[in-house]
Amino acid sequence: MKIIMLGAPGAGKGTRAAMIADYFNIPHISTGDIFRANIKNGTQLGMEAKGFMDQGLLVPDELTVKILLDRVAADDCREGYILDGFPRTIPQAEVLDQELVKMGDKVDYAIDVDVPDDVIIDRMSGRRACLKCGATFHIAHVPPKQEGICDKCGAELIQRADDAPETVKNRLTVYHEQTQPLIDFYQGKGILKQVSGTGAVKDALQDMLAVLI
Ligand code: AMP
Repeated sequence: MKIIMLGAPGAGKGTRAAMIADYFNIPHISTGDIFRANIKNGTQLGMEAKGFMDQGLLVPDELTVKILLDRVAADDCREGYILDGFPRTIPQAEVLDQELVKMGDKVDYAIDVDVPDDVIIDRMSGRRACLKCGATFHIAHVPPKQEGICDKCGAELIQRADDAPETVKNRLTVYHEQTQPLIDFYQGKGILKQVSGTGAVKDALQDMLAVLI
């Protein structure tokens, strides 16, 4: 099973992708997480990606496509995977398709998580992330037990540079211009499934399974 999660930044793709990955027992692959891990480890890729990410811009396709193709070539991806945050441009989607065709394979579903822009802005500007384990909270909707401290590992919570208000606006503009066209792209292939991203998180898995099965 190969599934793509579509949706604006902050739509809840990551949370939903983790649920699907768990349900089908397939890897959850987030290009954003791969970049953040590289930044944390101070790699060349991380240094190149950081400048784009901090401004709310997409990392160029040449860098992004390579890390994604390397990751999906790993052994644990043989039975499938769920992609969270890739593709984000039509050229990325085309490269993925071409690579899969070479292996006699294809994407099974693209799930679009639909959330209005004003909800996205509220979610992202209130988001706080743990510097150490990556867990995320929201100052109003999912507050940590102790302000500024991660419930899971006790490390400090910060606002990621790419969640700062100006950056959120840029990310939404980039989403509408470069990523939203993928909805039509996958609709044209007959594999697009749409779910609302504003419902209760406890219902999210059932909502997705209902459109997949
Ligand atoms: P995310 O955690 O998925 O919201 O990604 C965080 C940031 O990483 C994005 O705002 C982009 O700068 C970069 N990024 C992640 N995935 C991609 C991608 N497929 N193409 C280009 N840039 C990406």
